[in-house]
This record gives sequence, structure tokens and C-alpha cells, in this order.
Amino acid sequence: MDLKNVKDCIEVYPLGAGQDVGRSCILIKIYDKIIMLDCGLHMGVNDLTRYPDFEKIKQIWNIPEKRKWDQIIDLVLISHFHLDHIGALPYFTEIYNYDGPIYMTSPTKALLPYMCEDFRKVITESQKKEFTDDSIPQTPAQKIINDSRYPLIYTQENIQKCFQKAKTIQLLETIDVNGIKIKPYYAGHVLGACMFMIEYRNVKVVYTGDFHSNADRHLGAAWIEKVKPDLLISECTYGTIIRDSKRAREKNFLKQIQETIDQGGKVLIPVFALGRAQELCILLETYWQRTQSQVPVYFAAGMIEKANFYYKLFVNWTNEKIKSSYLTDNMFDFKYIKPFSRSLIKTNGPMVLFATPGMLHAGLSMQVFKEWCYDEKNTLIIPGYCVAGTLGNKLLSGCKQVILDKKVYDVNMQVKNMSFSAHADAKGILGLIKHCEPKNVMLVHGDVTRMMPLAETIRDQFEIQVFTPANFELNKIPLMNEDNHSIKITEDMKREIEEQKMNEINGLIFYNQDKQYQILRDLEEFQQLLNQLSDEYDAYWHRFETGYIIKINLSVKNKCSDSQKPDLIDKNKLINHYKQILEAILKMHEKAKDTLSDYLELCNTDNFDVLDNEFLVIKTSQQFTPQQQKIIDSIFNALNIYNNK
Ligand SMILES: [Zn+2]
Repeated sequence: MDLKNVKDCIEVYPLGAGQDVGRSCILIKIYDKIIMLDCGLHMGVNDLTRYPDFEKIKQIWNIPEKRKWDQIIDLVLISHFHLDHIGALPYFTEIYNYDGPIYMTSPTKALLPYMCEDFRKVITESQKKEFTDDSIPQTPAQKIINDSRYPLIYTQENIQKCFQKAKTIQLLETIDVNGIKIKPYYAGHVLGACMFMIEYRNVKVVYTGDFHSNADRHLGAAWIEKVKPDLLISECTYGTIIRDSKRAREKNFLKQIQETIDQGGKVLIPVFALGRAQELCILLETYWQRTQSQVPVYFAAGMIEKANFYYKLFVNWTNEKIKSSYLTDNMFDFKYIKPFSRSLIKTNGPMVLFATPGMLHAGLSMQVFKEWCYDEKNTLIIPGYCVAGTLGNKLLSGCKQVILDKKVYDVNMQVKNMSFSAHADAKGILGLIKHCEPKNVMLVHGDVTRMMPLAETIRDQFEIQVFTPANFELNKIPLMNEDNHSIKITEDMKREIEEQKMNEINGLIFYNQDKQYQILRDLEEFQQLLNQLSDEYDAYWHRFETGYIIKINLSVKNKCSDSQKPDLIDKNKLINHYKQILEAILKMHEKAKDTLSDYLELCNTDNFDVLDNEFLVIKTSQQFTPQQQKIIDSIFNALNIYNNK
């Protein structure tokens, strides 16, 4: 083992979603493995830069140009079906020919072809018509557009083949992919959305994808175990917003609609087909039932059927109320909300219309906008987030005139943004950090202006490092904070040791490759490592790729009589002596007490050895068992390693 080359950091490289929203694609490197978190596209861009620039991965990690992608990327994980998280996957698997493992939940897989095909159609149609859409900015193409190897959009066949390559994973199921353990947790947000816990060689990373910390009318709240990851990569779309209570938001939404229809206006609500549409429909349906309103409410034709189909198929992913009622009283069979036909666009009188797509970049919502935007009696309510470059984004930033299809449109209708998009707000993100106790946090998927204040708050509140990389900025996250390599033993602990009449503790080693620890004694570096800082501090630890060394200096020799010193020649006595010291340490610490019995059990096996009469060695097999890991954590806890006092 070459101690000089101990790699003790996680490398993170965002190809998208770094200080930005759209084109989520984050690469993490843990030792020898590279994992891709999401493979999304940027909706606000209409050239090849809408896809992640995969070639950059080779450059940043010095990977030979000719190496195949399945030999570079060990695993691809997709958090949910939104295009900014999944839209570039067919491009990566079929144009770049990635054929390695890809995991996602079953609703996400079911919706992959639907989402990607929808996008493919919009792009293909706009290309055919050669229509230049002012709502999409023209940026210089990164690669030559007529290079047939890199088409602007994938084909229907590409999507089908990509679909076949995707494997599914169930919530809370742990799967081992070539040594990388993955486990998905419920994320709320949209149907099938999940957070991923990734564990490789004792290094844990949690990736939230998009998550929602509160339950709503049709989905539950995000939930994760207290996993204490080395790194938590969290979205922060609504980073510094603590949104008004849900009730107030909904009241405001209904008030806006009521006011518009009262003065004879029309309300256009652009939605994602399967995103927030169901939530708002349930809200409006209930309101219409209560007020017995005669004003028609429409939902883009075909969408209700499609949405209902998926929600029935994956009813287990919805909240308890929907789950218990879907057989008898289907929450998505609406009484007041009717399918819309295009002939209704020009009819007079008030109405409410839910239309796709949510960012108004094409399709029905854009068509209806063109007809309704002149009339100041009308209202546009955008309930979600609109990526830069889309018509929705332009309108939200206050544009009073837009050019669509080479025609100028004056925007006289009222434009409102009501954030119903199901992302965690600042409170939700801070709550997640508090609950899951990460050692480092990285913020992605958010505007830089919102990200930085949130990062500051996290640093202040939790005293941990927070990373906020931009796209194409490599970040190295030390596996544990450097400062924590050395600690001061508390006075209480010293007193306890004295009371136990123990004379000295030299150290302990956890090493999870049997017999390998013996090599350590020959290494000069090993001694240097342990001598480092040990004069100034009472304890010192170092984490290797495969284990830990902890050195504890507690010299209270003069308090003990010679007869109480263990016989250094007798190995068994020495082991026993160390065991007692560890036991005493564990007994002292509240959090460690519940692992004491596990520890004593471990002591009964032949796992213990001593090295140079100085170090207690706990031998284990290739990987720490959960029980052993628990004991190690407890000892770290007992030594206040996480909380330098
Ligand atoms: Zn999303």
C-alpha cells in the first residue's frame, strides 16, 4: 500500500446544473469509479450545447481519447423524468454508444420514452418549418451542425433502444453494481422521483435530484434515513425562498382566477403534463365544487387520459389519500374539468385552461398565448420554473413585447408567477441537512444569486464545508475535514481513564484487509504519519482507502502503580487491556452506548491483535460489516471526532 498516494477525496465535475438550472449532469469520481448523476438537456438552448459536453470528462481525468464510454462511466443514475434530468440520455446511449449500467425507478423508466419523444417532436417540427423562434436564443454551435455523427436530435428508434438499456430499481432497495451500492429514497417532486444514496468503499454520497420536503395533494414528502454521507449534493432551485404557507399560496392562486373570470377574462395556466398539473387540477376541481361555478375549465385534450394512465399504474408512488381512494373514487376523474379542443381558443367569455408545455416554448400553451396575450382582462399564471431562453422565462422577467414566428406580440395580459413547482425551499434544504448530517454539502441546480446566500447560511448553521461549483469546474471534496485529523481528548474522558486506573492508550487500527496491516509496520511513512501532530494533540487519526488508524496519546502513567501495568510480553493481557480502554471510551459517550453490546460481542471473536505492542488491531474481512461500521462510528463519536471540543 502506497501511503503517499492515498486518495482521500471525492471529485465532482458538473457538466450541467453547476450554478445553473437545466441540463443536470454531474459526474462524481470515488477512487477508481466514475458515476454520472442525471443526463439532462437544456431546454433554453437550440444547438448541441443543449446536451452535456461528454468529451470534457475525458479531458478532465486524462482518459485516452479512444476509450469506450462503458469503460469510462461505471454507472448512470437518473433521479426523475423531467427533461432537464433525463432528456440527454438517448443521446448518450445511442449517439455516444454508452452501454453500461443505467438505473432509475419504474415510473421514471415508463415516462422516459414519453418525455423524450415529446421533446423530439417539438424539435423536429421546428426544424422542418425552419421556423426561427425568438424565444430560444441562438448560440454558436459547439460542433459543426452538419457533422452527421452528432445530430441535433435523436430518433424515435434511439429512444426505444435507450429505454431497453435502462434498468429499474425499487424504493429502498439496495443494488450492488460492480461494488457500488445504490439505494433510492422517495423524493416527492414528481411521480417516481427519487434521491440516491451511493456507497463505494465506505464513501457515501447522497444526490437529491429534485425533491420536495412537504406532502401535497397527490404526492408524499421526501424522506431519507440519517445516512451521514461524506457528501450531500442538493438541489437549491428555491434556495433562499421560504415560501408563504401552502394555504396562502393556494388562496392567492384561486383569488387570481376568480378575479379574472369575474371581469370576463380568460386564464391560461401552462403546465407540465405530469408535473404540477394533477395537483392544481385537484385544487381547482374542489374549488369549483364548492362555488358551483359555471365557468368552463379545460385541460389540454389527451393529457388527462395519459396522466391518469400513469398515475393508476404507479399509484403506490402517490400519497396515502390517493392510494386509498383510487379504486372507488378516482381523484383524477374530474367532474368540472373537461378536455379542450383548439376550436375553443377564439370563443368569447371567461374560461380557465391548463395547457402544455409548462414553459410555453412550443405547442398549445404558446398557440393560446398568441391569441390571448393582447387582452388585458386575461391572465397568465405560470406555476412552475421556466429555464432561461424560453418564452415563459421572458414573460416572467417582464417582457411586454415578444417576437414569435417573426411576428410581434404585445403582452397586455397579466402575467403571474406562483411557485407551485415542487422543490424544497430553504427551510426544506436546511431540514434535510440537519436530518441526514452530511460531512460536506454541495449545492447544484440553482441560480448563483440564490445559491451563495444559502451556502453561507449552511456554513454558519452547521459548520461544514459547502461547495458551489460552476459548470466544468472540478471540485475535490476531502473525505473528512482536514482539521479533524487531530483532536483534544475531553477532560471528562481523561478523568474517567484515570479512575479506571489505566496507564496508557497507544492507539487502535481498523483495517479491513486481513493481514495487510502487517505491511504498515515496515513503512517509514506510517510512523511519520503517526508522529505528525501527536505532540500537540491527544489523538490523531487517518483514513485510508480500506480502513482507519487512530492514535490516542493518554499518558497518565504516574497515577498508576507498577503492578497495574499490563505485562507487555503477554499479548492476550495486552489485548484485554486495550479492550477495556475502548469499553471505557464507549461507556462515556451517550451516542456510543447502544453499540457497547455489539462491541463486546466483537471482542469475543478472534478479531483482535496487537501491533508492536502499541496498536490494537481489529481485523475484518474485505468490507466492514454494518455492525463493525457501527462500532467504528461509535468510537469516532466517543472521541468527539465529529465535534472537536
Ligand atoms: Zn424536476
